[in-house]
Amino acid sequence: MDDALDEIWRAAWKPPDRRPPWAWAEEHVHQIPYSPVPGRFRADNSPWLKEPLEALVDPKVRIVSVIASIQSSKTTIGELGLCYVIANLPGPTLWLDQTDDDARDQAESRLGPVFEECPPVKALFPRNRHRMKTATKHFSNGMTLWVLGAHNKTNLQRRSIRWLIGDETWRWPPGHMAEAEARVTAFGWLGKCLFLSQGGEEHDDTHRKFETTDQREWTYACPECALRQPWKWENVEWSKDARGEDGEWDFSRVRATTSLRCEGCGDQFEDCDKTRRRLNKTGRYVAQNPNASPENVGFHWNALCAMSWGRLAELYLRAKLAARMGDLEPLKIFYQKRLAEPWRDFVDDFRLEIEPSGYRLGETWEDEAALDAKGRILEAPFDPNEAAAPLRILTVDCQMDHLFAVARGWAADGSSRLLWHERLLTWDDVDALQERFGIHANLVFVDAGHATYDVYRECARRGWTALMGDRRPTFLHRLADGRKVHRFYAPRRKVVLNRTQGCSVFYWSNLNIKDMLARLRRNQDPERGPTWEIPEDASEDYLKQMESERRVKKGGKWLWQQIGDRPNHYLDCEAMQVTAAVMLKLVGREAGGDAPDGEEAGEGD
Ligand SMILES: [Zn+2]
Repeated sequence: MDDALDEIWRAAWKPPDRRPPWAWAEEHVHQIPYSPVPGRFRADNSPWLKEPLEALVDPKVRIVSVIASIQSSKTTIGELGLCYVIANLPGPTLWLDQTDDDARDQAESRLGPVFEECPPVKALFPRNRHRMKTATKHFSNGMTLWVLGAHNKTNLQRRSIRWLIGDETWRWPPGHMAEAEARVTAFGWLGKCLFLSQGGEEHDDTHRKFETTDQREWTYACPECALRQPWKWENVEWSKDARGEDGEWDFSRVRATTSLRCEGCGDQFEDCDKTRRRLNKTGRYVAQNPNASPENVGFHWNALCAMSWGRLAELYLRAKLAARMGDLEPLKIFYQKRLAEPWRDFVDDFRLEIEPSGYRLGETWEDEAALDAKGRILEAPFDPNEAAAPLRILTVDCQMDHLFAVARGWAADGSSRLLWHERLLTWDDVDALQERFGIHANLVFVDAGHATYDVYRECARRGWTALMGDRRPTFLHRLADGRKVHRFYAPRRKVVLNRTQGCSVFYWSNLNIKDMLARLRRNQDPERGPTWEIPEDASEDYLKQMESERRVKKGGKWLWQQIGDRPNHYLDCEAMQVTAAVMLKLVGREAGGDAPDGEEAGEGD
């Protein structure tokens, strides 16, 4: 008790520290947990952190919005700012992560350790250390800190908060930033918000908030011509000859030839940490929106000031490769996490032109690939003696009293041609169609969304595979070599029907597969990647059903939604074709090689 009084007495008489928080942190923070740079915090290692920390304690500023790339210390602003606040400007503080679990993790694995490394904060620490694990922390100077999840709406209500620190706001539900901000307004003129995020989606809460600020961009001055300029991705260049004999990018040569070009004098800067340090020494923020209210300040930087441009070029080119094969996810991740830009989606792009491709239903196709006896893909033209089955996929949508079937031939490069579509009445009709087109049972896929048990039973009998559309965007797969990858379909699930019969079921992402379908369908030009073909005599019904859904945002999430009550069975059949083609690695980011390393949908700092 005496100790506690003593501390309060000393704290009360200590003159306030007037240094900027980053200078204070250089003296008092002995280590940043998880930092790639060991030892004391040094602002010169990441000079883009200085000004946001100064803005945080500037009495004229109400809102500090930071949008920045991952792994460039943006969360450190919150952590150092929080240490400074606890020691120098205590007041009720709310730290919000995405969910309560994320918040617990943040408190235990990052905030706790950084408090340990900061003696002025450690001195005010709750005596009982296990209380660091609870969501509410009381410090001996009377300050209370809550570390909670932004998803849980009750966390955003009632309390009156002086300091709000919101991390990764791009993942918060719509409206929750405003709710949290209202808690600070309730505190009065001293209240302040710090929002931290990577890039999200165009017009989401994070970017709309940033647009109300002066939007300061991190810049450098060219050592040759002195032109001040932002770190622009367009100015990163690599040798156009960095390709292998097969014409594909040779990534080691891409990495070796990448440089940054000054947009003033054209000087090329070598890709190394030394260059980046030299350019960052000239670093300064330049407001892009100087007419904003002085109460709202914003900061933006991308990965160019903090990581290898060659490595970025590789991530970018791999993402472009995946996009060409129909999978936009890696490109989206690159824009959001590396360039810290909002992702602009093709909102109303669902009405797609389909041009008939100059052939008729049921005609054979010379580009069609085949499978050999070991299940390997044979590219056309191939030796017919080696081919065990044509690379033809049959997909079936099962309704109450009828079935819809689509047969599509696939080429080795992911191009495909609609061979047949038909409304059928019985499972025997499906057998007849399978036989007529010589389709291997392993390449027949049936939607088990309705009449699930019937579908399982028919699949088990015939060696077909059941598919189920699903709301999840991706599914985790553990590869044989221990790596984890996210795919648009789930690992195989075995359904056992009885002692002798069972079938395989795969879930697929309705959003991502239908996005991929929309993208594949747009291309009829072989120069631009795999083509998607339909015959001259495709039925009116087929064409209509293919325009039966649109992409809409609901509750902050994108989804494909039926337009009115338009039948969408052929669309589902075609989506299942894409699912099967992704599983066969004909299209998508794993087509034609290994999964790209590194750029998964995980989190950064
Ligand atoms: Zn220059």
